[in-house]
Amino acid sequence: MKLQAFSVFLTLAVVANAQNLKARHDRVVHKRQALTSPSVSHSGTTHSTTTTAAATHSVSLVPAAAAGTGVPPIESISSGMPTQATLPVSGTFTPGATPPVSGAPVLPTPFVFKPADWPPQDRVAPVDSSEVAEWLKELEGHNIPALAPTVDGSCAGDPVAAADAANRGWWTCGGHTRATDVLACPDKLTWGVSFDDGPSPYTQKLLNFLSEKDINATFFVVGSRVIERPQLLLEEYMRGHEISVHTWSHRPLTSLTTEQVVAELGWTRKAIKTVLGVTPTTMRPPFGDIDDRVRAISLAMGMVPILWTSSPATGPFDTFDWKVAAGLVKGPQSFNTFQAILGNASTLNTGFIVLQHDLYEITVDMAVGHTLTAALTHNPALNLQAIGKCMKWPTGNLYLETNTNATFPTKGVDTDGDGVIETHGKTGQSSNGSNNNGAGFVAVPFFTVAGAMAVIATLLS
Ligand SMILES: [Zn+2]
Repeated sequence: MKLQAFSVFLTLAVVANAQNLKARHDRVVHKRQALTSPSVSHSGTTHSTTTTAAATHSVSLVPAAAAGTGVPPIESISSGMPTQATLPVSGTFTPGATPPVSGAPVLPTPFVFKPADWPPQDRVAPVDSSEVAEWLKELEGHNIPALAPTVDGSCAGDPVAAADAANRGWWTCGGHTRATDVLACPDKLTWGVSFDDGPSPYTQKLLNFLSEKDINATFFVVGSRVIERPQLLLEEYMRGHEISVHTWSHRPLTSLTTEQVVAELGWTRKAIKTVLGVTPTTMRPPFGDIDDRVRAISLAMGMVPILWTSSPATGPFDTFDWKVAAGLVKGPQSFNTFQAILGNASTLNTGFIVLQHDLYEITVDMAVGHTLTAALTHNPALNLQAIGKCMKWPTGNLYLETNTNATFPTKGVDTDGDGVIETHGKTGQSSNGSNNNGAGFVAVPFFTVAGAMAVIATLLS
């Protein structure tokens, strides 16, 4: 289990190799390759037994790929499989067009990439810029816990931080959550659909499928990808999907300094705003790596952290698409794992948020041909929605320019896990202050569902 978080990062490194990409996205993890272990969860929580058991299920559970999707049968999906031509971006949406978000500004002039305007791609954004200095002012007056950065965002890499994980509210290490975390859709049998790490050359195929099936999703986009493929971000937004921040260089945020976290979030937010004209009010930390310091920074900058569902009964709602791309498992195993987890969804009193990726061809194929198809034919029926929608937030809440809700996002973090938000202006919280939630419960959650899941996660740890 100590190797678990290491393995998460390693796995992603293997993904990049398997896809013969430059591995820029996951460069940080290559050095850990010698420690890889396939028996872990991307979520950083502890559910490998669920995975193992489910992987032994019969392949006969697996349906054929959706007709007309061009996706191979699940039996032939594996790392190294032949690739297909990517689809051209439709490029339908032009400056001045009206977005499907009430009150949002019309689309800005077309994005023109100038390297001098942006930090180097896929590297931790530098902190010595006037932009970062300006964004740091957003933290003034907020209670940012004085937690030292973790060594590398993993339990194994930082035993001292790991021993303090409950106090830190560290999700990677023990699944600790806080009341401000979004962890599940409130309504039973509702699937919060999300795709991370794009836009990629395969995103268009996914977008076409989602349109055909009338499904909306939340896209957690990487700033370095946004400036590469602005037209795809426009497609996502204009087709009614929700856009959220997933950092500039996709590093584990707990391992970065406060200034670096601000730079990672700030540049991504700026890239999205430049392309779309709107600024997201939500974010997802890469690898789900969040603690109270990262939460407080995100909320001070106006972004609500969104993770994904995990519970002792169901395991993480992770499609494990990344394991296929990494060559760790083949399509049928991944799909059956997911099918088993999905079967447990009906045991939850809430809905759930599912982790998927649109960075690789294999992960898009898994979604288009198999997991989303299974969801659409699931019995009992599932309601697939973007996360803001399933949370019943007014759509305007999702962007700074359209948000009229003064309490969204909440200003402050429930750093002691008692369910009460330590709000703007409160000072004195520190890394080893009186905020130990070792009693094993979280009370009076700000988001009811988040609180319920927090209880589960705390009991897990
Ligand atoms: Zn990611």
